[in-house]
Amino acid sequence: MKKSLILLLTFCGLGPGALAQQKSSYNAYELFHPLWNYQSNSPYRAGSGQPGAAYWQNAADYKIVASLDDQAKKLTGEVEITYKNNSPDKLAHLWLQLDQNSFSTHSRGGKTTPVSGGRFGNIGFDGGYQIAGVTIDGKPANYIIEDTRMQVRLAQALAEKGGIVKLKMAFSFTLPKNGHDRMGYLDTKNGPVFTLAQWFPRVCVYDDIEGWNVLPYLGAGEFYLEYGNFEYQITTSAKQIVVGSGELLNPAEVYTPEQVKRWNQASQSEQTVMIRSAEEVTEASSRPSKESITWKFRCNNARDVAFASSAAFIIDAARINLPSGKKSLAISAYPVESKGDGGYERSTEFVKASIEYYSNWLYEYTYPAATNVAGIVSGMEYPGIIFCGYRDKKESLWGVTDHEFGHNWFPMIVGSNERKFAWMDEGFNTFINFYSTDAFNNGEFKNRKFDMHRLAPMIFRENADPIMSIPDVIQARNLGWEAYNKPGFGLMILREQILGKDRFDYAFRQYIKNWAFKHPTPLDFFKAMEDGAGEDLSWFWRAWFYELWKLDQAVTQVQYLDQDPSKGAIITIENVDKMAMPATVEVELASGEKIRKQFPVEIWQRGATWEFRIETKGPIKSVVIDPDHVLPDMNPKNNTWRPASYRIPASNG
Ligand SMILES: [Zn+2]
Repeated sequence: MKKSLILLLTFCGLGPGALAQQKSSYNAYELFHPLWNYQSNSPYRAGSGQPGAAYWQNAADYKIVASLDDQAKKLTGEVEITYKNNSPDKLAHLWLQLDQNSFSTHSRGGKTTPVSGGRFGNIGFDGGYQIAGVTIDGKPANYIIEDTRMQVRLAQALAEKGGIVKLKMAFSFTLPKNGHDRMGYLDTKNGPVFTLAQWFPRVCVYDDIEGWNVLPYLGAGEFYLEYGNFEYQITTSAKQIVVGSGELLNPAEVYTPEQVKRWNQASQSEQTVMIRSAEEVTEASSRPSKESITWKFRCNNARDVAFASSAAFIIDAARINLPSGKKSLAISAYPVESKGDGGYERSTEFVKASIEYYSNWLYEYTYPAATNVAGIVSGMEYPGIIFCGYRDKKESLWGVTDHEFGHNWFPMIVGSNERKFAWMDEGFNTFINFYSTDAFNNGEFKNRKFDMHRLAPMIFRENADPIMSIPDVIQARNLGWEAYNKPGFGLMILREQILGKDRFDYAFRQYIKNWAFKHPTPLDFFKAMEDGAGEDLSWFWRAWFYELWKLDQAVTQVQYLDQDPSKGAIITIENVDKMAMPATVEVELASGEKIRKQFPVEIWQRGATWEFRIETKGPIKSVVIDPDHVLPDMNPKNNTWRPASYRIPASNG
């Protein structure tokens, strides 16, 4: 999901904030508490942060037959779910997610919508699912629906360790125009662009941590879904073009022969190949002459599928090269309104670059296609397909495309629980986006160097929420910082200032590989990073992710030995606030010589102040802690020491 715009604006225009000098509130016993993150694991999750010897997860395969009425803006379908219980527990019932039910004034999401609406709000739209014909293994099912959850009570408990049940039902709903900024439709001059997600009943995750995960869909909290294989087909007017998660199985039935030829060219091309141009959108010959068409897709090893449909789509595509030598296909689908001036005509280039970058750095992309759709949704991710704002251009189009496809790694590959831990997908993704953006097209949209002293007052805002909060509990104004930026910058500091790139990347890749298509928890991540990098980081996790602690490093004293600058000096630095970090101190001598000293975070295990000796042959001009502004220091004013009076020798004429 895309970061809000407000936050990007507040990002830039801030000067350094200064706190009044205060007595240190730092407590080494609290920060380095030996029992923090110290707990035994189960056979399911190892102390090393990898899946344990007895790790299990359940699976759900879906077959969906649906039709989209492009006039009534209504979706009707039937789903067959094959659910496999690999857990060691008998299951008396199943829980499903009926997220579409949130789009109703009677829903919890509707009732918790503020008067002003808000990005995830629902005001005045009375939609939601019609559900009928629910059967379990062919027999009528006993079920209840409670808001966005459905419980199916089984006549016979589903056996542990491999029990399988088949659940079928019919469903339909009228599309909300804007469903929590994640689905809906956009009116364009050549017809609506439909973006369909949360469009069929999906099984909740049953895991070893809390059994059934049943948090309702209120809006801010995204998804936690089981992996499985999907076969789905969409029947709609032949004027429509449908793009969806996974592989299109019947291109020859749904495109014209000329377009099929162009698809084949695109699959061999490094450059974007036009499949259906802006001019062709209004030509009847650009669609097969039939009444209606059925589009057939398959998506394997996915946690969800989404699709988009429009008569207005321009379509283009290019080949994606993956590290193993396999290929995928970057596709863009957009209305004519999105074209021009650095708009969606560059989208396929962006998709290709983003997927290739993350595949090389983190883990190889696994789907046969990657599609970017321009529509009403400002930015939202699904396996192999993303929905982005139709007006985005240039940097903003690169940014949203790269961000939403970054999500294919978190949470599509690494299947964390987004409804509880937004930072495990948004924060990780914000972090990887920094590097992808710097690398794109030789730095075309490269970030300016982050000045962490300038960012500190935002990171440590007065009304901040802890990162470790349920997204629905994080205040709307804080979501951009707590779910995206603060965890993103935290990982950047961990990589660049604490562990170094090599150790961080090794541990991070191990985490991704070990948890690909599985369900890690925050603790699994923390332990995996500690194990892979070989460092106890409990102090870092606690201060950055759990608490609202702040960082303030200071230089407090410089004393020459025997009052003689030629004999060296003792320098005192201090950790004023409750967070701690490694320290870098730069001493500049009057001669112009600069000396840098680096200290590990363990100096603060000795208390709030640290003294060190430095060899000097003459007087000191200045001492600066964190001279490169790489740590978010709340009070940079106490970072520099200068002698009470100092005159520059050469310029005092
Ligand atoms: Zn996101």
